[in-house]
Amino acid sequence: MGSDADAKLVRQESQGAENGNKGEKRWSLTDFDIGKPLGRGKFGNVYLAREKQSKYVVALKVLFKNQLQQSQVEHQLRREIEIQSHLRHPNILRLYGYFYDQARVYLILEYAAKGELYKELQRCKVFSEKRAATYVASLARALMYCHEKHVIHRDIKPENLLIGLKGELKIADFGWSVHTCNRRRTLCGTLDYLPPEMVEGKEHDAGVDVWSLGILCFEFLYGTPPFEAKKHSDTYKRIVRVDLRFPSKPVISTSARDLICQLLVKDSAQRLPLNKVLSHPWIVNNADPSGVYNGHN
Ligand code: AMP
Repeated sequence: MGSDADAKLVRQESQGAENGNKGEKRWSLTDFDIGKPLGRGKFGNVYLAREKQSKYVVALKVLFKNQLQQSQVEHQLRREIEIQSHLRHPNILRLYGYFYDQARVYLILEYAAKGELYKELQRCKVFSEKRAATYVASLARALMYCHEKHVIHRDIKPENLLIGLKGELKIADFGWSVHTCNRRRTLCGTLDYLPPEMVEGKEHDAGVDVWSLGILCFEFLYGTPPFEAKKHSDTYKRIVRVDLRFPSKPVISTSARDLICQLLVKDSAQRLPLNKVLSHPWIVNNADPSGVYNGHN
């Protein structure tokens, strides 16, 4: 992928945008051959699909308008489309375009051939330090790119990460991302990945993604997020206190634990900046420079 076919898809996408609603070339379902279902989401299903002209393989996400309306997430979807379609980074899932009919909205997404990172972590239980560091470095690069564009993801967790054909990590799902903060709806899902300032409903900034990176790094190495507790209220307390405890098993290097400690800091201004994450010794010594986990270590 990323070849002539990619250029064709992009060209058509920008034509559609230029033409707006004037009735000229826009995407429609007839432009695609639909293949196997790739997964089921909260608001619809995702299918493997091929654009007929370019033969370019994509993932087509089909969302039902009535379900979006019922859950009052149309605004969120608009924001997701607006933000994700403008991002171009090897570790961010491309959104090539969208179209709709009476009942559904269709998102034309980059196909992540190796599926969900979450399932990989469930299968492996924990990742090796090399694999974890490769993913953390990829995430740090993608988040730096987002933050330079004043986009905060705010929902970095294993369920929102996909794996490409070569094993490269792709951030998906910009449903909670923002240019500015939106405090009202941040506590709907799991608390596990949220920083103290967000669980306490305080102002927050790009530092929230740095915190989530620390949570993920811990989870990759130990198999569970650090502040997990049976009760929501206990997770809340542990996050606010930064009650960070490293299990004795598996044995993890001091260097990895040092990075986690520098990311999971209560004061967001004191968290390790993302460029320094990339030069941290644990990343330098463990992350694959190609950014791809090749499955051998
Ligand atoms: P979602 O509605 O985004 O949660 O997607 C539902 C499921 O479809 C995910 O859990 C993935 O297994 C799969 N999926 C979604 N997007 C893609 C994609 N771009 N490439 C491959 N699989 C995907």
